[in-house]
Amino acid sequence: MQTTNLWTSHAPRPSDLPSHALPAQTDVAIVGSGYTGLHAALVLAKAGANVTVLEQETIGFGASCRNGGMMTAGLKASVKEVLHMYGLARAREFWQWSLDSIDHVDHTVAEEKIDCDFSRCGHVETAFKPAHFEGFKDHIAWMKDQFGYASAHVVSRTDLRTEIGSEVYFGGLVDEFSAGLQPAKYVFGLAQAVARHGARLVENAGVTAIKRDGNQFRLSTAKGEIAAREVLLATNGYTTNVVPGARMGVFPVGSYIIATDPLPPALQAELSPKNRMFFDSKHFLNYFRLTPDGRMLFGGRNNLSTDLDLHESVRALGTRMVEVFPQLKGVPIAHTWTGKLGITFDLMPHAGRINGIHYAYGYNGHGVSIASYLGKEMGELLAGKRTSVPFMEIKHPRSFITYFDKFYLPFVAAYYRVLDRMT
Ligand SMILES: Cc1cc2nc3c(=O)[nH]c(=O)nc-3n(C[C@H](O)[C@H](O)[C@H](O)COP(=O)(O)OP(=O)(O)OC[C@H]3O[C@@H](n4cnc5c(N)ncnc54)[C@H](O)[C@@H]3O)c2cc1C
Repeated sequence: MQTTNLWTSHAPRPSDLPSHALPAQTDVAIVGSGYTGLHAALVLAKAGANVTVLEQETIGFGASCRNGGMMTAGLKASVKEVLHMYGLARAREFWQWSLDSIDHVDHTVAEEKIDCDFSRCGHVETAFKPAHFEGFKDHIAWMKDQFGYASAHVVSRTDLRTEIGSEVYFGGLVDEFSAGLQPAKYVFGLAQAVARHGARLVENAGVTAIKRDGNQFRLSTAKGEIAAREVLLATNGYTTNVVPGARMGVFPVGSYIIATDPLPPALQAELSPKNRMFFDSKHFLNYFRLTPDGRMLFGGRNNLSTDLDLHESVRALGTRMVEVFPQLKGVPIAHTWTGKLGITFDLMPHAGRINGIHYAYGYNGHGVSIASYLGKEMGELLAGKRTSVPFMEIKHPRSFITYFDKFYLPFVAAYYRVLDRMT
């Protein structure tokens, strides 16, 4: 078993992807080379701006090369939570925005010819309890009525075998709008597009400080100093205290994945007859799918920490995977890995400006399409093509408590475990 990410093992950083030297000056410095930073860079480079992407490791090192590759409609905060926080007009706006974000990825991979196994395969949310399935029915009717959304339908427990080769769930909610891709191929393809359009990609250039200097900023990096007219912080779950204040709005939580050896085609067809993306209806949810080369990828959060031992993670995720799919008992686990999600207090993505420095983050484990689209909109903002983005217009809760996440996250995890038992 390898304790490395399956996606980059199969699609490593392309050898022809340039790694540029640090320039002395740039129009826009983007800190972080995941989907947020690269989509912003793409828009800016196409608009003719001089853009430099600064990455502390190698391109795409963060969550963007190691996620589940699942794009599902909506935000992490449920539509009803968004409605409760911001009212019907905003809830409708954010819902449509989430759909547009998936279309945006679809459009980008086609336009930039990114070969990343993108597929409009749909997803199934599986009901962990009978009451959850009843909730699915109400939710679908309500979404049709209030949002005119008709892409989802329920599948009863008796018919669930048409969607999943498992007996443990009480029904499913199928949404045909959702999509899947290979995350590493996507992030490297984006980086190649960004470089092709003239932006600089500077690796091993961790930013350690950002200071205002007249009408520009000076960034200290591991490779020296760079001056920039504008800065975009695109560091999500890897955000540190480089921009004081930004870290107070987001905190890291670990997500863990295992992937089996490739499965025989007949077993693949039994486990996932329509090759959907899956997640269950728990708070401590599991997400799973077949990979393009026919493995079962099974992920989740064993607790909320970012430093769980990977062998311990294999034991916990492997046990749960076999509970869901007894057919996988004895199938070797080939890969196990982890990465950091960026969590916000209200489970909403956030964008804004702190002391003149722009930021966009907080996808709460739901960022493949959302980070892509918010990155694009931040790029348009910095290119002067728009004056605002919707996620800049909502209140952004921040607290110094984020600095003490190691102490309070175990209590939050315990709370969610109790909720999963009770609701
Ligand atoms: C295991 C896992 C599974 C997931 N599964 C899904 C899924 O199936 N569907 C979904 O929608 N979302 C999923 N997500 C979430 C999704 O991957 C993220 O929301 C998305 O990739 C965030 O992109 P980003 O560009 O904002 O941040 P990232 O891709 O995390 O990039 C941030 C980058 O900033 C760099 N950085 C940080 N600080 C500095 C600095 N000071 N100087 C320079 N560089 C810096 C980091 O090295 C990193 O490369 C998952 C995440 C994980 C970890």
